[in-house]
Amino acid sequence: MSQLSDLKVDIAIAGGGPVGSALALALAPQGYTVTLLNPPAPGAPDLRPLALSYGSRLILERLGVWSHLAPDVTAIQTIHVSQRGGFGRVNMRAAEIGVPELGYVVPYQTLLSAITLTLADNNANILAAQMTHWKAGEVAQVEYSFADQAQSLSARMLVLADGGSNESEGHVKTFKYQQVAITARVVSRYPHQARAFERFTVDGPLALLPFGTGWALVWTTSEGRAAELSAVSDAEFLASLHIEFGSRVGEFTAVSDRAAYPLRRREFDSAPTPVLRIGNAAQTLHPVAGQGFNLGLRDAWFLAQHGATSTLRLGSSAWIQAYLEQRQADRRASLDMTHSLVQWFGIDQFAVRQARGLGLQILGMLPPLKRHWMRKLSFGQR
Ligand SMILES: Cc1cc2nc3c(=O)[nH]c(=O)nc-3n(C[C@H](O)[C@H](O)[C@H](O)COP(=O)(O)OP(=O)(O)OC[C@H]3O[C@@H](n4cnc5c(N)ncnc54)[C@H](O)[C@@H]3O)c2cc1C
Repeated sequence: MSQLSDLKVDIAIAGGGPVGSALALALAPQGYTVTLLNPPAPGAPDLRPLALSYGSRLILERLGVWSHLAPDVTAIQTIHVSQRGGFGRVNMRAAEIGVPELGYVVPYQTLLSAITLTLADNNANILAAQMTHWKAGEVAQVEYSFADQAQSLSARMLVLADGGSNESEGHVKTFKYQQVAITARVVSRYPHQARAFERFTVDGPLALLPFGTGWALVWTTSEGRAAELSAVSDAEFLASLHIEFGSRVGEFTAVSDRAAYPLRRREFDSAPTPVLRIGNAAQTLHPVAGQGFNLGLRDAWFLAQHGATSTLRLGSSAWIQAYLEQRQADRRASLDMTHSLVQWFGIDQFAVRQARGLGLQILGMLPPLKRHWMRKLSFGQR
């Protein structure tokens, strides 16, 4: 491949997933020259459903995305949390923290399309290009492949929002959960009535989220069980789901769009100045409690706010350090909260099951504690 141009920009963003695209959008009014590199979409669509928090809705409204998205989301009014094989449950209602809804369910692909549409309205500079190499120095040097040609650009700051897909293992702490999330659309006998369910099992949490006239399922289970569930017929799948989830929404009558996602937690080292990471390229979370995108969106939003208000030189180590310090508490809390939920609910011992049940009951009986948790889930650690 031959080297062609040498573009110079203020900010290059590698990765046009929902987080990188949201950052490009948030930076659009600020007068920086921004280029977003994103390879053409792979053939198969990403079928995962996302639960957006109310806090994410507020950010998406400010970005002008919400009006494109609103017709396609399903609101969550109540979240019911329980554990399989043990007592204790807690109900969380939107009114308890004074918000109109606790969250919204939308397919990953629909969210991405809404952000991309808004980017087009803003004439953002997007290259259908894959970053192939980057190097930090006075400026960041980025090499990328565009229409089968090697090209390069230099940027005062490079933001890695590539989902962490290009990272060598030396720069990341990885924990393999040995769990797989099976996602699917399912239909049940009774309507969802804007209720979401999070049911913890020792194999992993099972989330049933209201979506359209049915449900979006995120069923986390052991690798072996996931392989079995991926292979069985629809009828067998629905019967297994009924056993795992119980009868709260009646029998399950239809399933479609099954997909499987192996799960791991990843925590990336900081990149050298003037490069930084956001979203899954900074931290990859277990999907329990639906936090990954919501956290990544806050990464993007606060990065753009920092760009608008900081008097420090863009891309300098002081500029980047100030941003990282601002984001540290939220990132740490989300990583620790999701990880400990999975670990704690994964222990298959009678005494621990009793303690968990008690914990859920206490949470339900202490409104200030419950509200504290609900606000954390909705707005992150502030
Ligand atoms: C089963 C499941 C359910 C989930 N449910 C929820 C939920 O309910 N709520 C929630 O908040 N989060 C949820 N998450 C997490 C959420 O999906 C991620 O946190 C989110 O997708 C991260 O977005 P991102 O843009 O950082 O990364 P990604 O979505 O991974 O996007 C990365 C982008 O970078 C591009 N890219 C890769 N390499 C390059 C390169 N070399 N050059 C240029 N571009 C590149 C890719 O093509 C892609 O477009 C869930 C995750 C899973 C697995």
